[in-house]
Amino acid sequence: MNNKSMENINFCENINLSNYTTIKVGGCAEYFSKPINKNEFINLIKWSHLNNQECRVIGAGSNLLINNIFLRGLTICTKTMKSIKLDCNKGIVEAEAGVMLPTLSNILAKNGLKGGEWTVGIPGTVGGAICMNAGSENLSLAQNLLSVQVIDTKTLEIYEIQKKDIDFQYRFSPFQQNNLQIITAKLLFEPKGNIKQLLETTKRNLKKKTDSQPYDLPSFGSVFKNPTNNYAGKLIEELGLKGFKIGDAEISTLHGNFIVNNSSASSQDILELITVIQQKVLQKKGIFLQPEVRMIGFDYA
Ligand SMILES: Cc1cc2nc3c(=O)[nH]c(=O)nc-3n(C[C@H](O)[C@H](O)[C@H](O)COP(=O)(O)OP(=O)(O)OC[C@H]3O[C@@H](n4cnc5c(N)ncnc54)[C@H](O)[C@@H]3O)c2cc1C
Repeated sequence: MNNKSMENINFCENINLSNYTTIKVGGCAEYFSKPINKNEFINLIKWSHLNNQECRVIGAGSNLLINNIFLRGLTICTKTMKSIKLDCNKGIVEAEAGVMLPTLSNILAKNGLKGGEWTVGIPGTVGGAICMNAGSENLSLAQNLLSVQVIDTKTLEIYEIQKKDIDFQYRFSPFQQNNLQIITAKLLFEPKGNIKQLLETTKRNLKKKTDSQPYDLPSFGSVFKNPTNNYAGKLIEELGLKGFKIGDAEISTLHGNFIVNNSSASSQDILELITVIQQKVLQKKGIFLQPEVRMIGFDYA
C-alpha cells in the first residue's frame, strides 16, 4: 500500500476493495481514501474534480458488488466520517455520512430517542442508507429524515436539500442517479422515550435479524427488491434454489434472497448466480427480479 499526500489530500494507491465490502469481493482502486471528517471529504471531491479523476463514494460496502477489475480514479470510503450531534430535547440528530446504523441505533436508544430501533441490524452507513432508502418492513430512514447536506461532484456546489424535495421510492433515491454525494444528514426522532425499553427493543431487533439471516457469512443483504405483493426470498425458495452454488457463491440455505461468499467467490461467480436466479424466476414464475444490490465496474446496470 502506497500512502500519498498531494495538495493536502491523503490517499493510497492500488487498494483491494474486497476489504471494504461486506461480501468480501471487489476490484482494485487506483486511488483510495478514508476521510475522517466532512472537510476532508469535500477536499477529496474537489481534488478529483480539479484533476479530472472519476470519483465514487462508498459507505460500508454492504450493498455493493464491485467487479474484480482495475477501477480508475478515486474511491472514497466514508466509514471514518463518524461525527454525530444530538439535541435530545428536540430529538434532532445531525450525523456525518459515515455513521454506521447500528451505532446510530444504540446511541438513539441510550439517549431516549425513539424510532431508530429497527436500524440496528443494517450494517451500512447513514449516507448509504439514504442513497438506498434502506428499510425494514414498512419503516425506512427516509421517514426520519429532515434534510441532507450534499456536494455536487460536477459543480462542487454544497447545499442543503429538504426531505420533501427528495423523491424516495422503495429502495430507491435520486442519489443513485445524480451527481450528489451526501455529506451530513439531519434526522428527527421522538424524544424522551423509555431508555430501558428502547435498549431492549434494539437488542430484540438485532436478534430477530441474526436469527433469520446469514450474519455469520459475507453477504450484501437482500440481493433483489421484493416484487409488488410478493417476496423475492419466497420465490427463490419455492424453486428449490436455496443452497445452489456457482463457485464459492451460494444462495443462502437460511434465506433465499441472500447470496453468501463461502470463502473465495469471485465477482463473476456472484453475477452469474444473480443472472441464473433471474432467469429461473422469470421462466417459472413470470416475474423479473430487479437487483437491490448496486453494481460497480460492470456494463450491467
Ligand atoms: C447482513 C446484511 C443485512 C442487511 N439488511 C438490510 C435491511 O434490513 N434493509 C435494507 O434496506 N438493507 C439491508 N442491507 C443492505 C445495506 O446494508 C443497506 O442498503 C445499507 O444502507 C447500505 O449502506 P452502505 O453504507 O453499506 O452503502 P454502500 O453499500 O457502500 O453503497 C450503497 C450505495 O450508496 C451510495 N452511497 C454510499 N455513501 C453515499 C453518500 N455519502 N452519498 C451518496 N451516495 C452514497 C453508493 O455509491 C452506492 O450506490 C443489509 C446488508 C447486509 C450485509
